[in-house]
Amino acid sequence: MKITRLETIYLPDYPSILFVAVHTDAGLTGYADTCYMPEAVAGYIHQFAAPMLIGHDPLAIELHWRRLYEVIAHTVGKGAELRGLSAIDVCLWDILGQAAGMPVWQVLGGAVRDRIRTYNTCGGPNYGRAAKGSVGYGTDGAHGKYEDLIAFMERPGELAQELLAEGLTGMKLWPFDYVAHYPGGGDNWRAFRGMFDPNIRSLGGHDITAADMNRALEPFRQIRKAVGDKMEIMVEGHGLWSLPAALKIARALEEFSPAWLEDMMRADDIDALAELRQGTTCPILASEYLATRYEYKPLLEKQAADIVMIDPTWAGGITECKKVCAMAEVYKRPVAMHDCTGPLTLYAGIHLAINATNAIYQESVRAYMRVNYPDLVTELPVIENGNFLAPTKPGLGTALLPDIRTREGAVVRVS
Ligand SMILES: [Mg+2]
Repeated sequence: MKITRLETIYLPDYPSILFVAVHTDAGLTGYADTCYMPEAVAGYIHQFAAPMLIGHDPLAIELHWRRLYEVIAHTVGKGAELRGLSAIDVCLWDILGQAAGMPVWQVLGGAVRDRIRTYNTCGGPNYGRAAKGSVGYGTDGAHGKYEDLIAFMERPGELAQELLAEGLTGMKLWPFDYVAHYPGGGDNWRAFRGMFDPNIRSLGGHDITAADMNRALEPFRQIRKAVGDKMEIMVEGHGLWSLPAALKIARALEEFSPAWLEDMMRADDIDALAELRQGTTCPILASEYLATRYEYKPLLEKQAADIVMIDPTWAGGITECKKVCAMAEVYKRPVAMHDCTGPLTLYAGIHLAINATNAIYQESVRAYMRVNYPDLVTELPVIENGNFLAPTKPGLGTALLPDIRTREGAVVRVS
């Protein structure tokens, strides 16, 4: 079997995502998506990766990873290049699974579990779309169905009850973000913040006042009041805080026993993360911002996190993420898989989580599962009682809907 074509698809409705397809002369096609700066990723794929792959055996996955990575490493490239490599790698695993007639988790070495727990990341359908130019509060301010981002600020207790009734026993929220952003952040963030307090003065994540802290703690009070300890609460920090502020927030959250504090600081200073972990009893999770074994290594060596978060199409694809899982296991750390972007990344994470002995969660966004993903792929992963079931079809177990190539404004490039 040989790789014949690499295809990238950009849809204006999903402006941060690039969809990738690897085609073969056997008629098998592997799919993936990756998020952020899609044009730069497409440039990497067509200009650089395609000439290295076309005509080669798609099943030599480990070799292709190393060949592509070595040149990326020479150029000190990590962002767009590594996301492109990650997406290509997921496509190749999809092809391998289809060629073997088995789900990807099976060709990874089999299932250690038949399902993986999930929790609801409380973003709305427009979370990723509206977040252009800002992080944290991507919302158009509409109070539509599954607009869980607004719900966790306005009616957190009710939202917790609603999720519990669906069988979901974990929810992730980020009620501290709006204090951290500098004035002049993205328009969507400004619109959102204005809904709550137009006069708030941001301290840029370097401090938080007692009044802002009090207000940001309110959702935690209401969730515990409404559902007690039936709900696990994950706290997202989006890397916005400096160490003293992160410590202040962590200590204030201790009484609510959160499942974890995620990326309270950017993962660009592992020593600071280790200091945060030493300074609080809350479990520290890091980080979807890290990529490849080489970045996870210091995190583990310096004992800077309790739980390791991995995004399959940011960190190096399925090949690399399986190794990161194994590395985390050496340090007695569980892993959690990231999803807040595209459906094929979610599938890649589920297969990894079904196979990795130390996986504890696969993230999901119910708004994406119900509004965005059905608009993009042929199959959706099955959630039963708060767990993703192991996919049963060969490969990833889903494919891009064929019509997306002809949608208005779609940009399709083929090498
Ligand atoms: Mg996160």
